[in-house]
Amino acid sequence: MKIAERISHLGTETAFAVSAEAAAFSAKGNKVYPFHLGDLNIITPSNIMDAAAKAMRDGKTGYCPNAGIPRLREVLASTLSSSHGIDYTMENIAIQPGGKPTISKFFMTLMNPGDEVLYPNPGFPIYESQIEFYGGKSLPYSYMEGKDNFEIDIEKIKRMITPKTRFLVLNDLHNPSGAECSQTEMEALAGLVLKHDLYVLCDEAYFDIRYEGRSRSFASLPGMADRTVILYTFSKQFAMTGWRLGASIGPKEVIDVITRLNVNDESCANHFIQYAAIEALTGDQAGRKKILDILKERRDTAVKIINSIDGVRCFSPNVTFYLFPNVTKAVQKKGLLDYESIRKSILHETGVSVCTRAHFGRPLEGETEFYIRLAYSGIDTSEIKEGLGKLKSYLEG
Ligand code: PLP
Repeated sequence: MKIAERISHLGTETAFAVSAEAAAFSAKGNKVYPFHLGDLNIITPSNIMDAAAKAMRDGKTGYCPNAGIPRLREVLASTLSSSHGIDYTMENIAIQPGGKPTISKFFMTLMNPGDEVLYPNPGFPIYESQIEFYGGKSLPYSYMEGKDNFEIDIEKIKRMITPKTRFLVLNDLHNPSGAECSQTEMEALAGLVLKHDLYVLCDEAYFDIRYEGRSRSFASLPGMADRTVILYTFSKQFAMTGWRLGASIGPKEVIDVITRLNVNDESCANHFIQYAAIEALTGDQAGRKKILDILKERRDTAVKIINSIDGVRCFSPNVTFYLFPNVTKAVQKKGLLDYESIRKSILHETGVSVCTRAHFGRPLEGETEFYIRLAYSGIDTSEIKEGLGKLKSYLEG
């Protein structure tokens, strides 16, 4: 069969390929330390599982409304109204099978061929894939190492904007770098959004993965809620990646179209899981807290070892479960001069399986520094110590 021409524009998420490679390496009897995928090896809190089981037994096993069950939409609206300070109602919410579908549905709903889209690179690779698949022009903006965090290169964004630029994709809190937008950055971006009449996809997949303080949403800035669609997901905060549940949250007229896309694509998100999501948001929060406690201990362990390696430097992000160390000096000393050699050598010599910057969008011209990304969500503290100890010996040896 002949594959459609449009498929040549469809990208992928290569972290899954790294996962498969690590599994194959492990199947040959090698020890693997899995730092490659943003998945959790922590089980979903039991009250959430019980609620799903109960809903199934109560007969919530048929179709449900295309935008999701009204009670979950109401609960999410009230949760977001208090965390974001925006007056959302259930009309602003379309439940989705995961966080990811909001990316494609946002572009299908709003973007015309030839429209330009600012998106983070390094960043979640599905933005680049979906922009190009739907005929948009991708304008990658970058992050720079600041004092204690990665910072958005706002000046570069200003230089890139043309009369055809229509969208900004913002991923705050950021995968892969663990960066969090400062108030100054948010205000500068909001200024550009207003000045150039842009619409925003705000990916908040990690909004609730933070160890101190409170997250602030870009949508809360003056004038932004009317121009922003939020990608919301249950995946990370409740250790529910495999359940596949999230939501698109934004202006009613956009949500209505997204709901029509739901009708066309999957009819509705899984019915009984939506009752579990109500329990996740309104029930006992001990499970959620425990997930964060576990992750924080892992972060502290990992950052300490990584920063003890010669030629490596790493921030200690207060958010997400990713680390994005600069390994330039260490890898150059080993004669490793491209990303695939770096990743494969580390895997084969130490069993440590990581993604690199190259898994997060096409590297940009003029990049001279090398970064790897470690997810500490899927590996226990004792294994972190053992694996990163081996990485240190290898890079320093
Ligand atoms: N957005 C970002 C930045 C992510 O890192 C991920 C998952 O890794 C997603 C969206 C997708 O989340 P979900 O698994 O809920 O589809």
